[in-house]
Amino acid sequence: MASNKYQNTNNKWLFEKQKDNSRRKGVCGYVWKNREDFCWAGLKLHDLVPEKIDYVVCTHGHSDHVGNLNLFLNAIHIISHDICIGDTYVLHDFKQGIPYEIDDDVEVISTPGHTSCDVSVNVQTDKGQVCIAGDLFERLEDMEDYTLWQDNSENPALQHKVRLEVLKRADWIVPGHGPMFQVPNEFKQQPRMVMYESVTQEADDTL
Ligand SMILES: [Zn+2]
Repeated sequence: MASNKYQNTNNKWLFEKQKDNSRRKGVCGYVWKNREDFCWAGLKLHDLVPEKIDYVVCTHGHSDHVGNLNLFLNAIHIISHDICIGDTYVLHDFKQGIPYEIDDDVEVISTPGHTSCDVSVNVQTDKGQVCIAGDLFERLEDMEDYTLWQDNSENPALQHKVRLEVLKRADWIVPGHGPMFQVPNEFKQQPRMVMYESVTQEADDTL
C-alpha cells in the first residue's frame, strides 16, 4: 500500500534462470496495473506468456501488489505466507524463519511488519544478492524519511528489525514504490535507521 506521496508502484520483477537444463521463470510482485494487457506486454518483452511462468510471488495482499493471478494457470502461487499449487495449499513454516527455496539461488523469505505476513524474494546474481522486498522498503528515501514506511506499517517495531536484517545481507533492494537501489555501505557496516523515538524504544525492549 502506497502513501499518497508515492502512488506509482514499481514492483513488477521477472526473474528467469537456466539451470540443469531446466528453465525456471517467476514473476514477483505487482502484476496488473488495472489491465491484463499491461501484464501480457511485460511478459512479451521476455518472449514469455503467462502459461510458461513457473512461480508467481505476491509480497503481500495489498491491492496495488496483487492482480491477474488467474492468468498464471501453471504457476505455483506464493501470496504472503500462502503457497498454492492449483487447488492445493502447501504448508510452509515461514513464521519460523524457514525460507522457501525455489532453487539454489532464489528463495522466498518471511519479512513481516508492513503486514503480518509479508514475504520477500532473495535472488543471487552476478551483482550480489538482490532482495525484491515489496513494501518492506517503500523506496530509497525511506531510509532517511521514516514517515514514508512507518505511516503504512502494521507493526513498525517488527518492520524496523526485519529491515535491519535485510540490509545486512542484501546488496541491492527492489522496493515497493521506487527504483532498485544499491544498499549504501554505511547501512551495511553500521546499520542505522531513523525511527520514531517510541518505536525504537519498543523494538529495543521487546525484540
Ligand atoms: Zn503494501
